[in-house]
Amino acid sequence: LAIIERLQQDIEFLRNCSEPCEAGTTRLSYTNEYRKGANYIKKQMEDAGLAVREDSVGNIYGLLEGRDPYAPKIITGSHLDTVRCAGAFDGMAGVVCALEVARMLRDNGERLNHSFEVLGTIEEEGSSFGQVLLGSQFIEGSFGEKELDLVSSNNGKTLRQILTEYSQYESPMPACRREDKIKAFIELHTEQGPILESLGIDIGIVERIVAISWLNITVTGFAGHSGTVPMNNRQDAGIGAFNLIVDTNRFVKENYAESATATIGQIKLSPGSSNCIPSKCSFTVDLRSGEINNIEEITRYIHSQALCIEKQCGVAIDIRIASLKHPIQMDKQIQNLIKQSCNELGYTCKQMNSGAGHDAMIFARRWKTGMIFIPCVRGITHHPEECVTWENMAIGTDVLYKTILHLDK
Ligand SMILES: [Zn+2]
Repeated sequence: LAIIERLQQDIEFLRNCSEPCEAGTTRLSYTNEYRKGANYIKKQMEDAGLAVREDSVGNIYGLLEGRDPYAPKIITGSHLDTVRCAGAFDGMAGVVCALEVARMLRDNGERLNHSFEVLGTIEEEGSSFGQVLLGSQFIEGSFGEKELDLVSSNNGKTLRQILTEYSQYESPMPACRREDKIKAFIELHTEQGPILESLGIDIGIVERIVAISWLNITVTGFAGHSGTVPMNNRQDAGIGAFNLIVDTNRFVKENYAESATATIGQIKLSPGSSNCIPSKCSFTVDLRSGEINNIEEITRYIHSQALCIEKQCGVAIDIRIASLKHPIQMDKQIQNLIKQSCNELGYTCKQMNSGAGHDAMIFARRWKTGMIFIPCVRGITHHPEECVTWENMAIGTDVLYKTILHLDK
């Protein structure tokens, strides 16, 4: 079979490993559907000549032993779980292209010096336990035995209980943790945004996974009757909040159009009735940028603007940082090898940041890590209409293959 047909076959099989949903694919970790998808990939790994194993939390691995058994491994892959009603490429693209690289190595009679491993991680999306990147954190070592009792799913079962049921399918499960002999980890992933497609560029080379700051902002005013309190005599918490939201949006758009994002994803008015002036408005701000400085500057702006609005609107504004995650740098040498591979193959590429979190950000804590982005149609993701062209899947596979050959030298 040609490369494109094999990629298509794998993606279409995984697309159909889904619990019933209105549209798209729903394959949550530790479900029967997930087991079916994982087993399919394991079978494909076996057919490609890889030694297959599964660790205690359900990550799957296919190893192709290198000429030097003492050399550290080169690992590539992504996650196999999905959000609800997802598309067929987020995560899967990285697993399927990695698998295809293994088949290409076999077909081309290419024996690597380093061992090469295809990886499919579990529970990256956080759909079941409200905590993202569990599978990769287990491999990296920051999530372990103790934590199995601390996270529980929506139906109240702990991860340990769920694993006991899940692992009945595959027992005994070999443990795999804190492997230190890793030369590099590369994750191919869909861009999940519109930039590559709009510029007509084949490959994105990730420089950084952006810093993410979450602010919780509460504006407090004074409630009143919507008909009896004159417009000039109000302490409207809603209006205070809306002013701050609009000002923040304008400030980020004007000053950081290419380098930061600000999103108001949640907003709540109290008491929340149509004939009452709001006494309280709380909302969230999600700030992201490759540069922590940008986040600090935007946060300072929000604080100074809040002071003005407090005076203008007669309200009090409280701003709290709910979480702050620093940017994660991808390895420079791997970035250069990806670029070199694109140049040699005649594909266009662009260095860019990832606005979304990925398994790669966990692996980057311990090992040299890189990410290859492939364009996705109109940037649609976490949606049944998510789409990557087969041509772009094949280009991504080519670049991944070439980069691994360079890394092996
Ligand atoms: Zn993903």
